[in-house]
Amino acid sequence: MNKLFVFSLCLFIIGAASLCALATHITVHNASQKLVVVATTSMIADAVAIIGAEHIHIEALMGPGVDPHLYRAKESDVHRISQADVVLYNGLHLEGRMASILETIGGIALANVLEKDEILASDFDDVFDPHVWHSVPLWRNMVACIRDVLVQRDPIHAKYYIDNAAAYDAQLEALHYYILEAIKKISEKQRILVTAHDAFGYFGKTYGFHVVGLQGMSTDAQISVQDVRQLVDYIVNNKISAMFLESSIPERNVQAVRDAVAARGWHIAIGPELYSDALGDVSSPAGTYIGMMKCNVDSLVQALS
Ligand SMILES: [Zn+2]
Repeated sequence: MNKLFVFSLCLFIIGAASLCALATHITVHNASQKLVVVATTSMIADAVAIIGAEHIHIEALMGPGVDPHLYRAKESDVHRISQADVVLYNGLHLEGRMASILETIGGIALANVLEKDEILASDFDDVFDPHVWHSVPLWRNMVACIRDVLVQRDPIHAKYYIDNAAAYDAQLEALHYYILEAIKKISEKQRILVTAHDAFGYFGKTYGFHVVGLQGMSTDAQISVQDVRQLVDYIVNNKISAMFLESSIPERNVQAVRDAVAARGWHIAIGPELYSDALGDVSSPAGTYIGMMKCNVDSLVQALS
């Protein structure tokens, strides 16, 4: 190992300790075994698999189409979590019904690496928008945290993780420019994103869309008659032409809005399905984070341009 690499490695480990020192127990891993990582969402698992590749074993608790707001840990999940070397989760209360177990076992909330002014507030005190992955620049920071955790827990393979993370980060940067280029096809006036729940706030802020959701930031909240009426008013008054389905939300919520809009003499198209809180099937184009983001943007361009 040359001196420069040893020096940068030390910096990385020190950085990892400060940036991601959120776990209550630090165990440095035995080189002969694979590091066992459990991730809550498929977005996190995808990044871990790319950076850790052959030196880790990754398990995602929530598969395609699973709603993380409503997900409760099964008995088998508790067993997997207890056997893991590292548990990674989104945080900001995305995994609301698993929060206590994730905190108790010393899991690492990736959103904790974000600066306070990068996190979007909600209408409620001390409740924040957890859907950070829809902003590629912010997601890159969370992916960097994944790299730091792997380096910290398995320092023997540090260079491997750092190199993989650098290559992946270049792909994420390219994805960001892909999105910026694609949305040029949608006029500024048409950049209004009406969805079943408020999952696209970070996307809207990063890419210049006005975002309106029927339900709040968590699907755990009940939809009231008032919520439907307000959204219908907004759609009719602003002559909105399309509303989007989400892969992890029941279609009936959106259909109720469409019917109410029709009763007011306006027609709204139900646009393609967006991937809000989970990746698509592993074998589908939306089965990776990059593929999922491209599918969403392509759907927006198709429906709004
Ligand atoms: Zn959500």
